[in-house]
Amino acid sequence: MLLFMPTLVYSEENCVQNHFKDIALIGTKAMIVTGKHSSRANGSLDDITTVLNQEHIPYIIFDDIEENPSVETVLKAREIGVKEEVDFIIGIGGGSPLDASKAISLMIANPDASEDVLYQPNPLPYLPVVCVPTTCGTGSEVTPYAILTLHKQRTKKSISHKIYPTLALLDAKYLKTASRSCLVNTSVDALSHLVESYLNTNSNAFNRIYSEQGLKVWGEFKQHLKEDTLTDEDYEKMLHASMIAGMAITHTGTSLPHGLSYPITYELGVPHGKAVGIFLGGYLRTYKNEEERRKVLELLGFSSLNDFCQFIKDLLGEVNVSDTLLEKDADSILANPGKLKNYPFSVTKEELMEMLQ
Ligand code: NAP
Ligand code: ZN
Repeated sequence: MLLFMPTLVYSEENCVQNHFKDIALIGTKAMIVTGKHSSRANGSLDDITTVLNQEHIPYIIFDDIEENPSVETVLKAREIGVKEEVDFIIGIGGGSPLDASKAISLMIANPDASEDVLYQPNPLPYLPVVCVPTTCGTGSEVTPYAILTLHKQRTKKSISHKIYPTLALLDAKYLKTASRSCLVNTSVDALSHLVESYLNTNSNAFNRIYSEQGLKVWGEFKQHLKEDTLTDEDYEKMLHASMIAGMAITHTGTSLPHGLSYPITYELGVPHGKAVGIFLGGYLRTYKNEEERRKVLELLGFSSLNDFCQFIKDLLGEVNVSDTLLEKDADSILANPGKLKNYPFSVTKEELMEMLQ
Protein backbone atom coordinates (compact mmCIF):
# COMPACT_ATOMS: atom_id res chain seq x y z
CA MET A 1 0.00 0.00 0.00
CA LEU A 2 1.17 3.49 -0.79
CA LEU A 3 0.20 6.92 0.45
CA PHE A 4 1.68 9.96 -1.31
CA MET A 5 0.16 13.43 -1.19
CA PRO A 6 2.87 16.03 -1.74
CA THR A 7 0.80 19.22 -2.25
CA LEU A 8 0.90 21.75 0.58
CA VAL A 9 -2.76 22.58 1.25
CA TYR A 10 -4.27 25.44 3.21
CA SER A 11 -8.01 25.79 3.53
CA GLU A 12 -9.55 28.75 5.32
CA GLU A 13 -11.20 32.11 4.84
CA ASN A 14 -8.83 34.68 3.26
CA CYS A 15 -6.45 31.86 2.48
CA VAL A 16 -4.54 33.68 -0.29
CA GLN A 17 -3.86 36.75 1.88
CA ASN A 18 -2.93 34.62 4.90
CA HIS A 19 -0.36 32.53 3.03
CA PHE A 20 1.35 35.10 0.82
CA LYS A 21 4.74 34.00 2.18
CA ASP A 22 4.25 30.50 0.80
CA ILE A 23 3.47 31.95 -2.64
CA ALA A 24 6.46 34.28 -2.54
CA LEU A 25 8.83 31.39 -1.81
CA ILE A 26 7.89 29.56 -5.00
CA GLY A 27 9.26 31.74 -7.78
CA THR A 28 10.30 35.15 -9.08
CA LYS A 29 7.91 35.74 -12.02
CA ALA A 30 4.45 34.25 -12.28
CA MET A 31 2.11 33.37 -15.11
CA ILE A 32 -1.48 33.50 -13.86
CA VAL A 33 -3.57 31.03 -15.82
CA THR A 34 -7.32 31.50 -15.64
CA GLY A 35 -10.63 31.63 -17.52
CA LYS A 36 -12.25 34.62 -19.19
CA HIS A 37 -14.59 35.90 -16.47
CA SER A 38 -15.17 34.02 -13.24
CA SER A 39 -11.92 34.73 -11.36
CA ARG A 40 -12.54 38.47 -11.84
CA ALA A 41 -16.10 38.15 -10.58
CA ASN A 42 -15.41 36.07 -7.49
CA GLY A 43 -12.38 38.06 -6.27
CA SER A 44 -9.80 35.28 -6.55
CA LEU A 45 -7.77 37.00 -9.29
CA ASP A 46 -7.74 40.25 -7.35
CA ASP A 47 -6.61 38.44 -4.18
CA ILE A 48 -3.69 36.86 -6.03
CA THR A 49 -2.56 40.01 -7.86
CA THR A 50 -2.76 42.03 -4.63
CA VAL A 51 -0.45 39.61 -2.90
CA LEU A 52 1.98 39.50 -5.85
CA ASN A 53 2.08 43.30 -6.03
CA GLN A 54 2.66 43.53 -2.30
CA GLU A 55 5.55 41.04 -2.56
CA HIS A 56 6.97 42.78 -5.68
CA ILE A 57 6.66 39.60 -7.74
CA PRO A 58 6.07 40.44 -11.42
CA TYR A 59 3.35 38.50 -13.24
CA ILE A 60 1.49 38.16 -16.50
CA ILE A 61 -2.12 37.05 -16.88
CA PHE A 62 -3.17 34.44 -19.44
CA ASP A 63 -6.97 34.45 -19.27
CA ASP A 64 -7.79 32.51 -22.39
CA ILE A 65 -8.55 29.11 -20.86
CA GLU A 66 -11.76 27.63 -22.25
CA GLU A 67 -13.87 24.89 -20.64
CA ASN A 68 -12.26 21.51 -21.37
CA PRO A 69 -8.97 23.16 -22.38
CA SER A 70 -7.29 22.07 -25.59
CA VAL A 71 -3.71 21.25 -26.47
CA GLU A 72 -3.78 24.27 -28.80
CA THR A 73 -4.50 26.64 -25.89
CA VAL A 74 -1.68 25.10 -23.85
CA LEU A 75 0.76 25.74 -26.72
CA LYS A 76 -0.45 29.33 -27.10
CA ALA A 77 0.22 29.92 -23.39
CA ARG A 78 3.68 28.32 -23.65
CA GLU A 79 4.72 30.78 -26.33
CA ILE A 80 3.88 33.72 -24.08
CA GLY A 81 5.30 32.13 -20.92
CA VAL A 82 8.63 31.33 -22.57
CA LYS A 83 8.94 34.83 -24.04
CA GLU A 84 8.16 36.40 -20.66
CA GLU A 85 10.55 34.06 -18.80
CA VAL A 86 8.11 33.12 -16.08
CA ASP A 87 9.32 30.57 -13.54
CA PHE A 88 6.07 29.51 -11.87
CA ILE A 89 2.38 29.17 -12.69
CA ILE A 90 -0.65 30.19 -10.63
CA GLY A 91 -3.83 28.49 -11.83
CA ILE A 92 -7.11 30.09 -10.72
CA GLY A 93 -10.55 28.70 -11.49
CA GLY A 94 -12.26 25.40 -12.04
CA GLY A 95 -10.62 22.22 -13.25
CA SER A 96 -10.08 23.66 -16.72
CA PRO A 97 -7.58 26.42 -15.76
CA LEU A 98 -6.00 24.21 -13.08
CA ASP A 99 -5.43 21.31 -15.48
CA ALA A 100 -4.21 23.69 -18.17
CA SER A 101 -1.73 25.19 -15.66
CA LYS A 102 -0.08 21.81 -15.16
CA ALA A 103 0.25 21.15 -18.89
CA ILE A 104 1.51 24.72 -19.49
CA SER A 105 4.09 24.31 -16.71
CA LEU A 106 5.45 21.24 -18.49
CA MET A 107 5.54 22.84 -21.92
CA ILE A 108 7.24 26.06 -20.72
CA ALA A 109 9.94 24.02 -18.99
CA ASN A 110 10.48 22.20 -22.32
CA PRO A 111 10.33 25.12 -24.76
CA ASP A 112 11.52 23.21 -27.82
CA ALA A 113 9.53 20.03 -27.31
CA SER A 114 6.67 19.17 -29.66
CA GLU A 115 3.12 18.77 -28.34
CA ASP A 116 3.58 14.99 -28.61
CA VAL A 117 5.54 14.95 -25.33
CA LEU A 118 2.31 15.64 -23.45
CA TYR A 119 1.26 12.08 -24.24
CA GLN A 120 4.63 10.35 -23.92
CA PRO A 121 5.45 8.82 -20.53
CA ASN A 122 9.14 9.86 -20.41
CA PRO A 123 9.68 12.08 -17.34
CA LEU A 124 10.31 15.77 -18.09
CA PRO A 125 10.90 18.83 -15.89
CA TYR A 126 8.04 21.24 -15.16
CA LEU A 127 7.61 24.56 -13.35
CA PRO A 128 6.03 24.74 -9.88
CA VAL A 129 2.24 25.24 -9.93
CA VAL A 130 0.06 27.00 -7.35
CA CYS A 131 -3.68 26.26 -7.52
CA VAL A 132 -6.65 28.30 -6.32
CA PRO A 133 -9.85 26.33 -7.00
CA THR A 134 -13.13 28.18 -7.53
CA THR A 135 -15.40 25.20 -8.28
CA CYS A 136 -16.07 22.21 -6.05
CA GLY A 137 -15.61 19.26 -8.36
CA THR A 138 -12.31 18.24 -9.84
CA GLY A 139 -9.92 18.39 -6.89
CA SER A 140 -7.32 19.28 -9.54
CA GLU A 141 -5.59 21.46 -6.91
CA VAL A 142 -4.23 18.26 -5.33
CA THR A 143 -4.29 15.69 -8.15
CA PRO A 144 -1.38 15.08 -10.52
CA TYR A 145 -3.77 14.83 -13.49
CA ALA A 146 -4.43 17.22 -16.36
CA ILE A 147 -7.14 16.38 -18.85
CA LEU A 148 -6.95 18.08 -22.24
CA THR A 149 -9.21 18.09 -25.27
CA LEU A 150 -7.68 16.42 -28.28
CA HIS A 151 -9.57 17.76 -31.26
CA LYS A 152 -7.65 15.42 -33.55
CA GLN A 153 -9.09 12.42 -31.69
CA ARG A 154 -12.49 14.05 -30.95
CA THR A 155 -12.20 13.30 -27.23
CA LYS A 156 -10.48 14.25 -23.95
CA LYS A 157 -7.50 12.52 -22.44
CA SER A 158 -5.30 12.84 -19.36
CA ILE A 159 -1.71 13.81 -20.17
CA SER A 160 0.94 11.17 -19.43
CA HIS A 161 2.79 13.24 -16.80
CA LYS A 162 2.00 13.38 -13.12
CA ILE A 163 2.26 17.01 -12.08
CA TYR A 164 1.37 17.63 -8.46
CA PRO A 165 0.68 21.26 -7.59
CA THR A 166 3.22 22.60 -5.10
CA LEU A 167 0.67 24.66 -3.18
CA ALA A 168 -3.15 24.70 -3.03
CA LEU A 169 -5.03 27.60 -1.46
CA LEU A 170 -8.70 26.91 -0.75
CA ASP A 171 -11.23 29.59 0.14
CA ALA A 172 -14.90 28.63 -0.07
CA LYS A 173 -16.01 32.24 -0.55
CA TYR A 174 -15.03 31.99 -4.24
CA LEU A 175 -17.81 29.43 -4.77
CA LYS A 176 -20.50 31.95 -3.95
CA THR A 177 -20.63 33.46 -7.43
CA ALA A 178 -21.06 30.08 -9.11
CA SER A 179 -24.39 29.31 -10.75
CA ARG A 180 -26.61 26.56 -9.38
CA SER A 181 -25.81 24.35 -12.36
CA CYS A 182 -22.06 24.86 -11.87
CA LEU A 183 -22.35 23.94 -8.17
CA VAL A 184 -24.52 20.91 -8.92
CA ASN A 185 -22.38 19.62 -11.78
CA THR A 186 -19.09 20.07 -10.00
CA SER A 187 -20.38 18.57 -6.72
CA VAL A 188 -21.56 15.53 -8.67
CA ASP A 189 -18.08 15.31 -10.21
CA ALA A 190 -16.60 15.19 -6.68
CA LEU A 191 -19.17 12.55 -5.71
CA SER A 192 -18.20 10.48 -8.75
CA HIS A 193 -14.51 10.70 -7.77
CA LEU A 194 -15.39 9.42 -4.31
CA VAL A 195 -17.58 6.56 -5.53
CA GLU A 196 -15.23 5.53 -8.35
CA SER A 197 -12.27 5.66 -5.98
CA TYR A 198 -13.97 3.59 -3.26
CA LEU A 199 -15.24 1.02 -5.77
CA ASN A 200 -11.97 0.57 -7.62
CA THR A 201 -9.36 -2.12 -8.25
CA ASN A 202 -6.78 0.09 -6.55
CA SER A 203 -8.73 0.96 -3.44
CA ASN A 204 -7.36 -0.22 -0.10
CA ALA A 205 -7.50 0.60 3.60
CA PHE A 206 -4.92 3.41 3.20
CA ASN A 207 -6.56 5.36 0.41
CA ARG A 208 -10.10 4.78 1.66
CA ILE A 209 -9.17 7.26 4.39
CA TYR A 210 -9.92 9.85 1.71
CA SER A 211 -12.98 8.38 -0.01
CA GLU A 212 -14.72 7.38 3.24
CA GLN A 213 -14.31 10.83 4.73
CA GLY A 214 -15.35 12.53 1.49
CA LEU A 215 -18.50 10.42 1.11
CA LYS A 216 -19.50 11.26 4.68
CA VAL A 217 -18.98 15.00 4.12
CA TRP A 218 -20.88 14.84 0.79
CA GLY A 219 -23.80 13.21 2.61
CA GLU A 220 -23.87 16.13 5.05
CA PHE A 221 -24.60 18.82 2.43
CA LYS A 222 -26.53 16.78 -0.13
CA GLN A 223 -30.01 17.80 1.02
CA HIS A 224 -29.19 21.51 0.99
CA LEU A 225 -27.68 21.12 -2.48
CA LYS A 226 -30.87 19.52 -3.74
CA GLU A 227 -33.13 22.09 -2.06
CA ASP A 228 -30.90 25.02 -3.09
CA THR A 229 -30.55 26.15 0.54
CA LEU A 230 -26.76 26.13 0.81
CA THR A 231 -25.16 27.80 3.84
CA ASP A 232 -21.59 29.11 4.31
CA GLU A 233 -20.82 25.88 6.13
CA ASP A 234 -22.08 23.87 3.15
CA TYR A 235 -19.80 25.77 0.76
CA GLU A 236 -16.86 24.84 2.97
CA LYS A 237 -17.96 21.21 3.01
CA MET A 238 -18.37 21.17 -0.76
CA LEU A 239 -14.84 22.47 -1.29
CA HIS A 240 -13.54 20.04 1.32
CA ALA A 241 -15.31 17.06 -0.30
CA SER A 242 -13.96 18.06 -3.70
CA MET A 243 -10.37 18.32 -2.48
CA ILE A 244 -10.45 15.07 -0.52
CA ALA A 245 -12.04 13.35 -3.52
CA GLY A 246 -9.07 14.59 -5.54
CA MET A 247 -6.75 12.96 -2.99
CA ALA A 248 -8.78 9.75 -3.31
CA ILE A 249 -8.46 9.53 -7.13
CA THR A 250 -4.80 10.50 -6.89
CA HIS A 251 -4.31 7.09 -5.27
CA THR A 252 -6.78 4.99 -7.25
CA GLY A 253 -7.63 6.75 -10.49
CA THR A 254 -11.22 7.02 -11.69
CA SER A 255 -13.25 4.23 -13.26
CA LEU A 256 -15.94 3.53 -15.86
CA PRO A 257 -18.24 6.58 -15.41
CA HIS A 258 -15.32 8.91 -16.14
CA GLY A 259 -14.21 6.81 -19.09
CA LEU A 260 -17.75 6.83 -20.49
CA SER A 261 -18.18 10.57 -19.95
CA TYR A 262 -15.47 11.93 -22.26
CA PRO A 263 -17.18 11.31 -25.63
CA ILE A 264 -20.45 12.64 -24.14
CA THR A 265 -18.73 15.90 -23.23
CA TYR A 266 -16.91 16.11 -26.53
CA GLU A 267 -19.82 15.26 -28.83
CA LEU A 268 -22.73 16.82 -26.91
CA GLY A 269 -21.01 19.58 -24.91
CA VAL A 270 -22.38 18.22 -21.63
CA PRO A 271 -20.40 19.68 -18.66
CA HIS A 272 -17.92 17.24 -17.14
CA GLY A 273 -19.67 16.55 -13.80
CA LYS A 274 -23.03 16.02 -15.44
CA ALA A 275 -21.56 13.78 -18.15
CA VAL A 276 -20.02 11.57 -15.45
CA GLY A 277 -23.00 11.72 -13.07
CA ILE A 278 -25.46 10.24 -15.57
CA PHE A 279 -23.47 6.97 -15.38
CA LEU A 280 -23.07 6.91 -11.60
CA GLY A 281 -26.31 5.18 -10.54
CA GLY A 282 -25.78 2.55 -13.23
CA TYR A 283 -22.19 2.04 -12.07
CA LEU A 284 -23.38 1.31 -8.54
CA ARG A 285 -26.14 -0.96 -9.82
CA THR A 286 -23.70 -2.98 -11.97
CA TYR A 287 -20.99 -3.15 -9.30
CA LYS A 288 -20.73 -6.75 -8.24
CA ASN A 289 -19.66 -6.44 -4.58
CA GLU A 290 -22.90 -5.88 -2.68
CA GLU A 291 -21.22 -5.16 0.67
CA GLU A 292 -18.98 -2.40 -0.72
CA ARG A 293 -21.89 -0.84 -2.58
CA ARG A 294 -23.97 -0.83 0.62
CA LYS A 295 -21.09 0.86 2.47
CA VAL A 296 -20.99 3.69 -0.10
CA LEU A 297 -24.73 4.30 0.24
CA GLU A 298 -24.50 4.16 4.03
CA LEU A 299 -21.63 6.69 4.17
CA LEU A 300 -23.63 9.03 1.94
CA GLY A 301 -26.77 8.56 4.04
CA PHE A 302 -28.98 6.91 1.40
CA SER A 303 -31.26 4.09 2.50
CA SER A 304 -31.36 2.35 -0.88
CA LEU A 305 -29.82 2.37 -4.34
CA ASN A 306 -33.13 3.53 -5.77
CA ASP A 307 -33.07 6.57 -3.48
CA PHE A 308 -29.55 7.37 -4.67
CA CYS A 309 -30.51 7.04 -8.35
CA GLN A 310 -33.60 9.21 -7.91
CA PHE A 311 -31.58 11.85 -6.06
CA ILE A 312 -29.03 12.09 -8.87
CA LYS A 313 -31.76 12.18 -11.51
CA ASP A 314 -33.54 15.02 -9.69
CA LEU A 315 -30.29 16.96 -9.42
CA LEU A 316 -29.02 16.52 -12.98
CA GLY A 317 -32.12 16.01 -15.10
CA GLU A 318 -32.00 13.85 -18.22
CA VAL A 319 -29.39 13.87 -20.96
CA ASN A 320 -30.38 12.55 -24.38
CA VAL A 321 -27.65 10.27 -25.64
CA SER A 322 -28.31 8.45 -28.91
CA ASP A 323 -27.87 4.68 -29.04
CA THR A 324 -25.23 5.15 -31.73
CA LEU A 325 -23.10 7.40 -29.53
CA LEU A 326 -23.58 5.18 -26.48
CA GLU A 327 -22.60 2.10 -28.44
CA LYS A 328 -19.50 3.80 -29.83
CA ASP A 329 -18.65 4.96 -26.32
CA ALA A 330 -18.97 1.43 -24.87
CA ASP A 331 -16.90 -0.02 -27.73
CA SER A 332 -14.11 2.49 -27.15
CA ILE A 333 -13.95 1.55 -23.44
CA LEU A 334 -13.84 -2.16 -24.26
CA ALA A 335 -11.04 -1.59 -26.77
CA ASN A 336 -8.91 0.22 -24.19
CA PRO A 337 -7.43 -1.95 -21.40
CA GLY A 338 -6.23 1.21 -19.62
CA LYS A 339 -9.84 2.29 -19.10
CA LEU A 340 -10.95 -1.13 -17.82
CA LYS A 341 -8.15 -1.82 -15.39
CA ASN A 342 -9.60 0.18 -12.48
CA TYR A 343 -12.86 -1.77 -12.58
CA PRO A 344 -12.40 -4.93 -10.49
CA PHE A 345 -14.75 -7.17 -12.50
CA SER A 346 -15.32 -8.05 -16.12
CA VAL A 347 -17.93 -5.94 -17.86
CA THR A 348 -19.97 -6.47 -21.03
CA LYS A 349 -21.01 -3.97 -23.68
CA GLU A 350 -24.64 -4.32 -22.53
CA GLU A 351 -23.68 -3.58 -18.91
CA LEU A 352 -21.74 -0.48 -20.01
CA MET A 353 -24.67 0.78 -22.07
CA GLU A 354 -27.09 0.14 -19.20
CA MET A 355 -25.02 2.37 -16.89
CA LEU A 356 -26.67 5.41 -18.48
CA GLN A 357 -29.49 6.50 -16.16
P1 NAP B 1 -14.47 24.55 -15.53
O1 NAP B 1 -14.51 24.01 -16.93
O2 NAP B 1 -13.15 24.88 -14.98
O3 NAP B 1 -15.41 25.83 -15.42
C1 NAP B 1 -16.74 25.74 -15.84
C2 NAP B 1 -17.38 27.13 -15.89
O4 NAP B 1 -17.54 27.60 -14.55
C3 NAP B 1 -16.57 28.17 -16.63
O5 NAP B 1 -17.46 28.89 -17.44
C4 NAP B 1 -16.00 29.06 -15.53
O6 NAP B 1 -15.90 30.42 -15.96
C5 NAP B 1 -17.08 28.94 -14.48
N1 NAP B 1 -16.63 29.16 -13.09
C6 NAP B 1 -15.56 28.65 -12.45
N2 NAP B 1 -15.53 29.05 -11.16
C7 NAP B 1 -16.60 29.87 -10.99
C8 NAP B 1 -17.11 30.62 -9.89
N3 NAP B 1 -16.55 30.55 -8.68
N4 NAP B 1 -18.21 31.39 -10.10
C9 NAP B 1 -18.81 31.44 -11.33
N5 NAP B 1 -18.40 30.73 -12.39
C10 NAP B 1 -17.30 29.95 -12.22
O7 NAP B 1 -15.27 23.50 -14.61
P2 NAP B 1 -14.83 22.28 -13.70
O8 NAP B 1 -15.96 21.34 -13.70
O9 NAP B 1 -14.26 22.71 -12.41
O10 NAP B 1 -13.61 21.60 -14.51
C11 NAP B 1 -13.85 20.68 -15.53
C12 NAP B 1 -12.52 20.27 -16.14
O11 NAP B 1 -11.70 19.59 -15.17
C13 NAP B 1 -12.72 19.28 -17.27
O12 NAP B 1 -11.83 19.55 -18.32
C14 NAP B 1 -12.43 17.94 -16.61
O13 NAP B 1 -12.02 16.94 -17.52
C15 NAP B 1 -11.31 18.32 -15.66
N6 NAP B 1 -11.11 17.39 -14.52
C16 NAP B 1 -9.88 17.31 -13.99
C17 NAP B 1 -9.61 16.44 -12.94
C18 NAP B 1 -8.24 16.33 -12.36
O14 NAP B 1 -7.98 15.49 -11.53
N7 NAP B 1 -7.32 17.16 -12.76
C19 NAP B 1 -10.64 15.67 -12.39
C20 NAP B 1 -11.91 15.79 -12.95
C21 NAP B 1 -12.14 16.67 -14.00
P3 NAP B 1 -14.51 31.04 -16.54
O15 NAP B 1 -14.22 30.30 -17.81
O16 NAP B 1 -14.83 32.46 -16.74
O17 NAP B 1 -13.47 30.80 -15.50
ZN1 ZN C 1 -14.13 14.22 -12.79
